[in-house]
Amino acid sequence: MKPFRLLSYLLFILMVFGGCNQRKPSVTLEALIPLLAQNDQALGVTQPGDWLFHHPEKGQTFDQYKRCNPVSPDEERSVIYIQPIGDFDDTCNALIKHTAEYIQIFFGLRTVVLKNLGNDIFPDTITRRGEYNDTQVYAPYILNEILAKRMPRDAITLMALTEKDLYPNPDWNFVFGLANLRKSVGVTSLYRLLEKQDDRIDKTRSLERLIKVASHEISHMFTIHHCTHAVCTMNGSNSLPETDQKPNRLCSQCTAKLLWNLKIDPFVRMEKLRNFYAKHHLTGALSLLEADINITKPLNPSL
Ligand SMILES: [Zn+2]
Ligand SMILES: [Zn+2]
Repeated sequence: MKPFRLLSYLLFILMVFGGCNQRKPSVTLEALIPLLAQNDQALGVTQPGDWLFHHPEKGQTFDQYKRCNPVSPDEERSVIYIQPIGDFDDTCNALIKHTAEYIQIFFGLRTVVLKNLGNDIFPDTITRRGEYNDTQVYAPYILNEILAKRMPRDAITLMALTEKDLYPNPDWNFVFGLANLRKSVGVTSLYRLLEKQDDRIDKTRSLERLIKVASHEISHMFTIHHCTHAVCTMNGSNSLPETDQKPNRLCSQCTAKLLWNLKIDPFVRMEKLRNFYAKHHLTGALSLLEADINITKPLNPSL
């Protein structure tokens, strides 16, 4: 086969099989979202210490989202890249791999893990000692000086997963993650998300947190703001207990934004998420998803 024809053939294969969940949706959002809304859980009264208590936010309706010209994938930029930074052991490397698999399902876009970068990429001038006397890295440096300069041509977004703790500015004690929408880059730290028992990492609990924070940060990069509509992955979080209380479930409004923007088939996505949650024993997320599958069954009896 001539090189050009071979290339065309490979491109065709990629177009057919590389689109993940992206195909013409099998159901309209007008039919789907009101059913999912029945499973939305109302937000409780905010208490001191909660994100919303200290950061009163107005939220973002589906209509506002549609009007704001959100970041969308196109023919040139549609790949989500994950950049690990740190000296990770096998358990952490597996967690990063599984997080990338989840991100691919969650957003219905091809997701690629780049080759690890070492911690020596951080100059001393942008680090400080955190509350546990471990090194903390200034997160905006990672966004602006590391990621923005390494953006692959076909990247819709590039997110780093770091071993080190992060701080967003000198006044804050830490941050789980940070995103720069304009530059389509983000960073999530594993430092506080890893659950350890006697120095051994609890893989299930750590993965549950990591996919929550990573999908939250990448959703920001598709211009989805913090959610005040219902209990949702897109709620802001001030602490690890608040992150743990959030579900690995987008509320109906945030689901509408994601499906509308990325043109994902909701039932293909649900089926893949169900397989992922079951395989990794993420029982909380699985039971919420089963409830969504059940309530939307009239629209898709085969699932
Ligand atoms: Zn956020
Ligand atoms: Zn929401």
